[in-house]
Amino acid sequence: MNNRLTLGGACVTRVVETHIQMRTSLFADTPAHAWADNADLLEPSFWDRDGELWRIAMQSWVVEADGLLVVVDTGVGNDRDRPHMPPLHHLSTDFLAQFSAAGFDPADVDVVVNTHLHTDHVGWNTHLVDGRWVPTFPNARYVVPEADHRFFGPGGDGENDGMRTVLADSVIPVTDQIQLWSDDLQLSPSLRLRPAAGHTPGSSVLWLDAGSPAVFVGDLTHCPIQIRRPDDACAFDVDPVAAGGTRRRVFAEAAQARATVFPAHYPGHGGPVIVAIGDAFDVSNWAGLDAI
Ligand SMILES: [Zn+2]
Repeated sequence: MNNRLTLGGACVTRVVETHIQMRTSLFADTPAHAWADNADLLEPSFWDRDGELWRIAMQSWVVEADGLLVVVDTGVGNDRDRPHMPPLHHLSTDFLAQFSAAGFDPADVDVVVNTHLHTDHVGWNTHLVDGRWVPTFPNARYVVPEADHRFFGPGGDGENDGMRTVLADSVIPVTDQIQLWSDDLQLSPSLRLRPAAGHTPGSSVLWLDAGSPAVFVGDLTHCPIQIRRPDDACAFDVDPVAAGGTRRRVFAEAAQARATVFPAHYPGHGGPVIVAIGDAFDVSNWAGLDAI
């Protein structure tokens, strides 16, 4: 299984945690016929026609660039109490073994990027050791969008029981390693974080350009149907209108740069190269990873 790409002077590796499926009705703006109309794009990797289910990968992207080892989003994690999200409740996977099998040592990770603070992007920030949540990446700096830290934190509009639990097991234990950021954050000559608000207030994208551009977009898009229908929200978008506007903006920027787009949850070949046709978008080709 090829999970690794060279992009100019950088390498990108996919580490898959698990797969789940959810109802297509979570895209409330997307009529049922639109799934069938776009079957050429969606089958077989992204859509189960008979079950009316949308296929989701939980995965991290590992970027080697400028001498840095960077993990983009850290999945669901093991052993979490997530009673409101049954597929993620007390998940138990071999993610860390997969991470090691890909040739990486958690102690060597320099930077962890949480594109936003939803539960499925911060899980492996920590792991359980002797009943305590400890940092999985002991020598990394964890870069966290300040807007999400405020929104989901104490007194924020996004505070709720579920998020209190997420912060307690996956964010607060790495407090000493967190760098909060807003506006832009240049991580290295080839790597730059930029805001992409909408899915959450602090959602962000990581641009890579070491000679062959790419952009890691977190939950900017959950399914490629949103490439052809960028205004269609997913139920998990905190601000659906802002999310649609940001999707159009980042897709346009990616098309202009001919950047490969790496979402957090696309199975298949990993991510598309997007083309702009007037004010519409389509996929010109896919990253060269083996289909999952
Ligand atoms: Zn997500």
